[in-house]
Amino acid sequence: MENYADFSNAELNPPELETKPASTEAQVAATKALEDIRSRSFSARHPELGKMVNCQVCGLRHRAIQKCEQKFKELYIEEDLDTGEKTIIYASAVQPKGVEIPSQISAQQPTVKQVVGAATFKKKRLRPHLNRRKLQFVELVRSFLPDEFDEIDLRKARTRARFILAERFGRYNILPPVKNVKQPSPLAGTPA
Ligand SMILES: [Zn+2]
Repeated sequence: MENYADFSNAELNPPELETKPASTEAQVAATKALEDIRSRSFSARHPELGKMVNCQVCGLRHRAIQKCEQKFKELYIEEDLDTGEKTIIYASAVQPKGVEIPSQISAQQPTVKQVVGAATFKKKRLRPHLNRRKLQFVELVRSFLPDEFDEIDLRKARTRARFILAERFGRYNILPPVKNVKQPSPLAGTPA
């Protein structure tokens, strides 16, 4: 037991700590901070519970409290010869007025898309790509049509193509392929 240090009286004789009275500045700052925190709304007191946003900068979905900043490549440094003022030109889409970059038409900037984002003007394809079945339909119709044709020819060709595809793939994506079952001839099977 002699090897062990004796801590039995440690709690009875705590080391004396000197406490200084807080300065008035610190007290004022503390009350201000407390008032500020208490007057906040629930969401302001709990930023970790803030609303989720689809971040356009980092491409992720996270809380609105996390502010992401875009970083641009430095293109070159422009120096004003009169004042000696240096400005770094970044490779951003919108340039400050007067900056001319060869690949951009700076005089017309900012464009509408640069201000509100290109996603605002996104539309569907005017002529969407055809699927496998539709491509075959077009191919069949074209093969049935003569060099010169009128509307009736076109309608007939489309009907014929539709029937062929129904035999091949089925109808309405649900029904099975149409079996081209011919009615048995009454004469069939009879001994000659
Ligand atoms: Zn982000």
